[in-house]
Amino acid sequence: MPIPLAEIRALVGQYPRTPVVGAVGSHSAIDIADGAVTEGLPSLVLAQEGREATYARYFRTLRYHAGGRHRGCVDDVWTFPRFADLAAPAVQERMRSHGVLLVPNRAFSSYVPLETIENEFRVPIVGSRALLRIEERTERENYYTLLAGAQIPTPRAIASPEAIDRLAIVKLPHATRRLERGFFTVASPQEFRKRSSQLLENGTIRSDDLAQARIEEYVLGPVFNFNFFFSPLVPRAEGLELLGVDERRESDLDGLVRLPAAQQLELPETARIPSYTVVGHGTLTVRESILEEIFRMGEKFVDATRERYPPGILGPFTLQSCLDKDGHPVVFDVAARIGGGTNVHLGVGHPYGNALWRTPMSTGRRIAVEIRHAVDTGRLSEVVT
Ligand code: AMP
Repeated sequence: MPIPLAEIRALVGQYPRTPVVGAVGSHSAIDIADGAVTEGLPSLVLAQEGREATYARYFRTLRYHAGGRHRGCVDDVWTFPRFADLAAPAVQERMRSHGVLLVPNRAFSSYVPLETIENEFRVPIVGSRALLRIEERTERENYYTLLAGAQIPTPRAIASPEAIDRLAIVKLPHATRRLERGFFTVASPQEFRKRSSQLLENGTIRSDDLAQARIEEYVLGPVFNFNFFFSPLVPRAEGLELLGVDERRESDLDGLVRLPAAQQLELPETARIPSYTVVGHGTLTVRESILEEIFRMGEKFVDATRERYPPGILGPFTLQSCLDKDGHPVVFDVAARIGGGTNVHLGVGHPYGNALWRTPMSTGRRIAVEIRHAVDTGRLSEVVT
């Protein structure tokens, strides 16, 4: 049974005026912590033993004798043998007693089972708890169904390998590194059979995943990840903000495309199939005449989430898109939470976010501004689930 919204709202009613902003220590935790302390809120990172040095050592807050921060932005780190342990009832109790508001990132929704987050994790989440599940491509109700309902263009689905009649991308998890991708591209049923048997043979993918794989049209166009923010605390017409745009650096895809074509063809057959492991991010802006369509797309997404997953999207979300040759976006993935690519603007702010807010506005800072505003106006219960 999903935790009733009223129960979470009641919890924040007892929270202190200065809540602690918490995040799972990976993905976007530095941005979240940096944003929190910039807005005068304490930060907490929940880390896994052996993976805590970034937070507990390199970005740890160091203070002057008088107490002010002179370096770093991670005020506190709690470590656990495994990330999933952070959802243990005793840890939840500790978080509540410290007044922790958890900002969900992909590390949280990947390492803590979704059932636990939905049914057992009695800590207020700043964002949309119910929407975390839509990222799972294998769910019956997922981001594709949401986008279709919102009439946002997505890559055309291809029903079966036999129906592949154009360049297509086959989406399934990696066989062993389950959080990574085992994606491959093919242009015909024959090529599908050849590539998939190679990948099965070399242990990159699994046959049970292949049977469930999503096959879709490969959109030829650059990837633009649109990082939005939605606030329910202002009139609806002012709620949607575009903060910035990022692109991913993917290994070894980016290495492959930097080789001359002749050398690509010299590689062994299996080395020509790129993996799509995200290893970093770059920043982008978008041609200004395209912006209005991007905003319309964001508005449709907000409306669809409010209708189908009330109270709908709260805070940051990313629509990962390719722009086609006419400059129209086609959304191939959604993050209904802070996107990993927002790291590019950590500390310095996003181009559009800065233009809007007249001050450096990263996603982490925007989240903290929202928390501050909600606390100051007695509306914290409206930004948590
Ligand atoms: P994702 O796991 O959805 O973030 O996708 C990983 C990468 O695959 C993206 O960054 C794109 O480079 C690529 N990709 C995914 N879907 C498509 C598509 N339909 N057309 C073109 N590229 C895609």
